[in-house]
Amino acid sequence: MNRREFLQNCAGVAALAAAGSPAALPPLRAAETPRKPKTNGIQVGSVSFVDEGTDKVLDFLQERGAVDTVYLTTFTYGRGLAGRQIPGQPFPDHGAQISDEKTFHGGNYATPHPEFYRDTVLKAAHAPDHGDLDIVATVLPAVRKRGMKLHCSVEDVFRFDVQGVREVAEVDLQGRRTGTLCLCHPDVRAFWSGLATDLCKSYEIDGILFFNERNGPLLNALGASHAQSIASSRVTCFCEHHQRAAKERGVDFERARQGYQALDRFVQAALKDQRPADGYFVEFWRLLVEYPEIIAWDRLFDDAKHQVLAEVNAAVKRVRPGLQVGFHIEHVNSFNPIFRATRSYADLATKADFLKVVMYNNCGGERYANFIRNVGSTVFRDVPKDELLRFNNHLLNYGAEAGLDELAAAGLSADYVFRETQRALAGVQGKCKVLPGIDIGIPTGSHSRKASPDDTYAAVVAALKAGADGLILSRKYSEMQLANLAAAGRAVREAAGG
Ligand SMILES: [Zn+2]
Repeated sequence: MNRREFLQNCAGVAALAAAGSPAALPPLRAAETPRKPKTNGIQVGSVSFVDEGTDKVLDFLQERGAVDTVYLTTFTYGRGLAGRQIPGQPFPDHGAQISDEKTFHGGNYATPHPEFYRDTVLKAAHAPDHGDLDIVATVLPAVRKRGMKLHCSVEDVFRFDVQGVREVAEVDLQGRRTGTLCLCHPDVRAFWSGLATDLCKSYEIDGILFFNERNGPLLNALGASHAQSIASSRVTCFCEHHQRAAKERGVDFERARQGYQALDRFVQAALKDQRPADGYFVEFWRLLVEYPEIIAWDRLFDDAKHQVLAEVNAAVKRVRPGLQVGFHIEHVNSFNPIFRATRSYADLATKADFLKVVMYNNCGGERYANFIRNVGSTVFRDVPKDELLRFNNHLLNYGAEAGLDELAAAGLSADYVFRETQRALAGVQGKCKVLPGIDIGIPTGSHSRKASPDDTYAAVVAALKAGADGLILSRKYSEMQLANLAAAGRAVREAAGG
């Protein structure tokens, strides 16, 4: 099958047709008949079960979405996975239609058992949002009765006022404590392993899905992600544990600090339009040549993050080898070639049973445009941003996506989902499962793409045609329209043969 035939076959062609002529691209593996997914999962926060009733929610998930696995948000202080619709966004056509911004708190929505947190100042306090309710104990029997599976989702998003956070927080370039946890800190590592062990020992669940979307200092300095601002003066982590880890591998702390200070000056000058004589890119690359410690220090962050992933995996397997461990692979892994270089699917596959790879195509347009604007304001400031987008599309092997001005409104295509699924499958080489994260109603700006049921259907078909092992409908049921959920379910049922 050639590219033209593929595009004709793949849903979502209409969006592509408006996007201009495709450049020459490396060949993709031909699209297959959509493959029956081994797993069709969905992310759900506790508030949906509380607001709508456990059985009613599970009825909707099974009947409309053909869902067989619940990824239940069990630990987080963030609103991406927990709580009702985020404030200011329209509510979907189910659930309470009142914002919970005054009552949302976060924490452990199950019951923390103190014996698992003896080695850490962090204690996984019970989330007070629904009183004493233990959401895992509540939902698990109902899920089991239906023959469905349940994984606990745990996310590295904290609040500054949580007990213990100050003691284990990262330290920034200026020596200030921040609100994020240092992944080199022994208490933090003990906490994640303790939490995973607690959940797997205390409940008969099927596994853990671990979320950590944080980046190292190099990417944070450049704002080289969709979601973040440029924060070159506040990069982390320079704490004593990081200094010790650096020393062990022969990385000079003082040189790293000087390198990040020089990077900060470069970024701030770029934002003021003060062009270096040799241009922005050359000046940036010269900094990396003069201070290789910049990359070495960034690597410390990635290594600590991956060590935590490996420790969580080991902790879960110690409870029961058959329990499944999955990692959420963040969206920046798709957009950013510098980030991609630090993430090897083959390596991640050695630490997990499955990877939930984010390929949210509807909100992806807005997010990708933000990323291009961020990197286009510093390192690539000399390049017109629309040309930078096209160049980056080539680096990433994206197809004919919309231009920069239209990208947020157009979203990314179903073809993008197909390509990113194939890339992940090629990367893991069968060593772990790939479950694409499919975007259903993830909030975007008022002029940005909102997923229609046809968009959802096309994205699911594209993932299954590319050979995905399953799906995880994201981010949370409390932001999804039922018609979109039904469109995903229809695509899954058709792939399963009716
Ligand atoms: Zn640290």
